[in-house]
Amino acid sequence: MISTTLFPGRYVQGPGTLKRLGEEVNRFGSKCFLICDSFVFDNILPEFQQEIEKHIQIEMEKFKGECSDEEIERLSALARNVGCDVIVGIGGGKTLDTAKAVAYELKIPVAITPTIASTDAPCSALSVIYTPTGEFKRYLILPKNPELVLVDTKIIVQAPVRYLVSGMGDALATWFEAESCKKKYAGNMTGDVGSMTAYALAELCYNTLLEFGLLAKLACESHVVTPALERVVEANTLLSGLGFESGGLAAAHAIHNGLTVLEQTHKYYHGEKVAIGTLASLLLTDKPENTIDKVFSFCESVGLPTTLSDIGLSDISDAELMKAAEAACAEGETIHNEPIPVTPEMVFSSLKATDALGKKRKKSYN
Ligand SMILES: [Zn+2]
Repeated sequence: MISTTLFPGRYVQGPGTLKRLGEEVNRFGSKCFLICDSFVFDNILPEFQQEIEKHIQIEMEKFKGECSDEEIERLSALARNVGCDVIVGIGGGKTLDTAKAVAYELKIPVAITPTIASTDAPCSALSVIYTPTGEFKRYLILPKNPELVLVDTKIIVQAPVRYLVSGMGDALATWFEAESCKKKYAGNMTGDVGSMTAYALAELCYNTLLEFGLLAKLACESHVVTPALERVVEANTLLSGLGFESGGLAAAHAIHNGLTVLEQTHKYYHGEKVAIGTLASLLLTDKPENTIDKVFSFCESVGLPTTLSDIGLSDISDAELMKAAEAACAEGETIHNEPIPVTPEMVFSSLKATDALGKKRKKSYN
């Protein structure tokens, strides 16, 4: 049996690393097309631009907010026109996925600098493509991972804590999904089975969250970098990235994708919906009670959603929820990597049961 494991070219993390971006990027390019959102453009770049430009030339364009085929096409045309030899993306998950897709269109290297630790998108050879209105459209599998992922933890802790917590929600799914794939000998993002490296890193991701998640959240709320914060940023970004990509996805992300068909969930972050997907997957796959309790307790301690109303679905009808369950079980969805056959009815039931358990636990805390 052939296993494949994927890695980004280099991963650099710590306080103040953005100062090194120019130097790092210069190892594989000299003129970059930099994609970032308005916030990064106005609030982060001014402090670093001069230092970066000592090493590379910069052409800049603002990202319009959705990682859609239309936006990728627009930015690719601009990048082509200015004649650059490397793409740099600075920002959140969708900005970075767009930067990776543009680099792929131009067949040049890409450097990725997340300003929030809200997803495991940065390290992967994958972009998630949405419609211009924010519905999941498809995965774009890229031929290689980013040449560089550079994370400045001083910038991460300036962002609202909800991003870090959401990243923990995304990372929380990693081990459960990898474990399901391992059990079933299901393929990872390459189609080959995962390696022991991937499964071990996915498990380390889970253990890191459980041990340091709350400490990291508190540090982030105080806008300070601590060892616990560094560990959780690494878990959210590198471990979760390697874990999902080389270990494989299963029910949690498929349920997330299903939930995105319900418009009410659009204002909630990826990791928040993945957290609900993860909790539902535990009930779906008949996990032991102590595991369910541990994961619910973790979500409650850091403030991740545990009920449907936490992701905007307080008035959801059964018929609407069934639509999400059906989308989660669409042909080709990663839910079919679970070791048991899964039907939309089973997903619907797990979501309802998760909601009931989440509500009951909340009541007993108040
Ligand atoms: Zn994810």
